[in-house]
Amino acid sequence: MDAPAKPGHDGMNMTEILKPSEIGHAAELLRAGELVAFPTETVYGLGGDATNDRAVAAIFAAKDRPKFNPLIVHVPNAGAARPLVTFNARAEALAAKFWPGPLTLVLPRRVDCRVSLLAGAGLDSLAIRVPAHPIAQELLRAVARPIAAPSANRSGHVSPTGADHVIAELDGRIVAVLDGGPCSVGLESTVLDLTGAPAVLRPGAITAEQLTAIVGPLSAPGGGTARSPGMMARHYAPARPLRLCATSAQPGEAWLGFGPDAAGATLNLSPRGDLTEAAANLFAYLRKLDCAPHIGIAVSPIPERGLGVAINDRLRRGATAVKGA
Ligand code: AMP
Ligand code: MG
Repeated sequence: MDAPAKPGHDGMNMTEILKPSEIGHAAELLRAGELVAFPTETVYGLGGDATNDRAVAAIFAAKDRPKFNPLIVHVPNAGAARPLVTFNARAEALAAKFWPGPLTLVLPRRVDCRVSLLAGAGLDSLAIRVPAHPIAQELLRAVARPIAAPSANRSGHVSPTGADHVIAELDGRIVAVLDGGPCSVGLESTVLDLTGAPAVLRPGAITAEQLTAIVGPLSAPGGGTARSPGMMARHYAPARPLRLCATSAQPGEAWLGFGPDAAGATLNLSPRGDLTEAAANLFAYLRKLDCAPHIGIAVSPIPERGLGVAINDRLRRGATAVKGA
């Protein structure tokens, strides 16, 4: 860093405001696993290296997100998306028409996809967007890695459309914000699910009419059209039963531990009890244990604070999910 971080009011470091001429520095910070907010044509994104589990976990922590919702992964062009997701004919047509631009496509994740499972909330699909903003474009090319970026606000607050909004929301929680002035669209990207019949998951800057002109009729926001059950899964859950707040494994169970007390665990989310590390490992470890010969997964208690809230939310959903529906 060319300037040392300045101490903030509460002893936290303050967030550095970078000029567009400092994109190279912002790219270095992202490659080092730091969080940097940046402008897109829709809203400011809270960026982190999508291939780095720790950086992705830190995004959820910075936003105070109580849930691991899947994040949109940003790339500079369709070519950079191809190693991550599988395109179908509709995706090709939409990408040709609307990328770069405010359209996010949810597509099947490739088995060799390098993106953190946490970024996709453990799902088999991934949301991809190619922003048009020149600063976002230059940053993504300089980083040369996919960047996970939800809106750069605290959970439940409105999306920021200026660097000053980002500072008001996240000062001291991220290392830097690239100041590109106000966002031109100010409305979030449209999220279109293409893993089944096309369905708008979030209305946004690209209208239903614009999409229909390319791919034909759409399901209404929130669903409505009958779809195959596998396509409805918005949340990943292991096939094997989860038993929460377990202090040991029963015969046949794998034990997903947390903290120094879980010495005999099959895998330990964080032997030193670090919640960011645990979040970073959560989906990858659940997948590893959700296989034969295990008949179930016992999970150590996770403290209900910080990222532990989101971890417990996901574990509780996994424990109560209807299996095999
Ligand atoms: P934000 O994080 O505020 O940019 O919002 C991201 C939006 O994309 C949310 O509505 C997510 O639910 C949606 N999204 C991202 N990834 C996926 C996915 N794999 N499947 C379904 N929806 C997704
Ligand atoms: Mg948001």
